[in-house]
Amino acid sequence: MIASSRHDDTSSVPEPQPFLDGVDLHALAERLGTPLHAYSANAIRRRIGELQTALQGLDATICYAVKANSNRAILELMAAAGLGADIVSAGELQRALAAGIPAARIVFSGVGKTDEEIGAALDAGIARFNVESLDELHAIERVAAARHVVANAAVRINPDVDALTHAKISTGRAENKFGVSIAEARRWFAEGRQLAHVRLDGLHVHIGSQILDLTPFRLALHRVAAFWRELVQAGHPVASIDVGGGLGVRYRAGQDQPVAAADYVQVVREALAGFDGRLLLEPGRYLVAEAGVLLTRVLRIKEGTERSFLVLDAAMNDLQRPSLYDAWHDIVPVSPEPRPLATYDVVGPVCETGDTFARGRVLPACAPGDLLAIQGTGAYGASMASTYNSRPLAAEALLDDGRYAVIRRRQTLEEMVAGEQPAQDWLAP
Ligand SMILES: *Cc1c(COP(=O)(O)O)cnc(C)c1O
Repeated sequence: MIASSRHDDTSSVPEPQPFLDGVDLHALAERLGTPLHAYSANAIRRRIGELQTALQGLDATICYAVKANSNRAILELMAAAGLGADIVSAGELQRALAAGIPAARIVFSGVGKTDEEIGAALDAGIARFNVESLDELHAIERVAAARHVVANAAVRINPDVDALTHAKISTGRAENKFGVSIAEARRWFAEGRQLAHVRLDGLHVHIGSQILDLTPFRLALHRVAAFWRELVQAGHPVASIDVGGGLGVRYRAGQDQPVAAADYVQVVREALAGFDGRLLLEPGRYLVAEAGVLLTRVLRIKEGTERSFLVLDAAMNDLQRPSLYDAWHDIVPVSPEPRPLATYDVVGPVCETGDTFARGRVLPACAPGDLLAIQGTGAYGASMASTYNSRPLAAEALLDDGRYAVIRRRQTLEEMVAGEQPAQDWLAP
């Protein structure tokens, strides 16, 4: 084997996964076709339960980060468990409200909220804006004034902490586009009294995603806590502290060691000891990633001169994380039938070298038609999917105790091109 990537690995033999949430995955793939995103409702409920248990006794609201998986049925599951939502667009606002998440449990993050989006959020009556710049603060003031309402706002602090995660999902360094420095936030509070339509009484911090170590959380929270104490001393009450998301998950069995919810919440409790306002949390990945698999069939096996390629019917348009972040996903056979091992580069059919799920991956020898499960795909899988290479969006199914429901039907070719039209009605703007 040629070791040409840090992803090459021969140490672990993948465990087959014939079932998910009591559902036979072979039968499911026969029914619904592949590629197929399948999610375990029980796995999601378990994660919610773990976090809720850890938070007992605190005035805390879990605002699920919608972007991790924005399917309506997933959001309805969150709503049923009493969760709120962390949204980053008017589209996510609409999805969250449609799924029954009360506006009073919705917080709005993101560096580029438009006036229209701010207006829609005010009209819906969301709980709070997480404000990322002075310009945005003034935009909220302006839009709220026009509506004769007062917006609740938290300043997103950039604590300049390295989340020790992939650069593309790190958000809490001074060089990142997110949030403002404590020095700048201090000025906002000092000047905040002049804003008639923004009640600036919250702090927010989110330092990045897929964090597997408590240290960056602890550092960031201690910086935020010191600032909260300083604000209170200066006569600025702090009604809410939003600690963001970022909890990492196990993408690689035997390697990734995620932080337990209880340990994470303990760090929050210690850092914010004495805080008597509302605590907000914005987990995304933690709640849904490990609940999902991407079911895919082997199309063919291609013996190259140096490597063997396993060509799947799933591609980077269905799951972008490997090509975007060099992310590892465990890939396992669905069938438990024993076979000799082989080493493959696992790729999709898209015309890009980046359309690679794994390099030098050891799997039981495959044949065309074999069903594989790419694991850990419940977060940032379907929600980041595209139709690149004119591949329709995959179907999605929610599984629950041996039953399944289609929660997104496979896109048809007609649906994929709907909205496109010939350039015939030429107009001058
Ligand atoms: C993406 C995001 C989250 C969720 O991050 P996870 O790593 O999925 O938990 C939370 N808050 C904000 C502001 C985000 O941008």
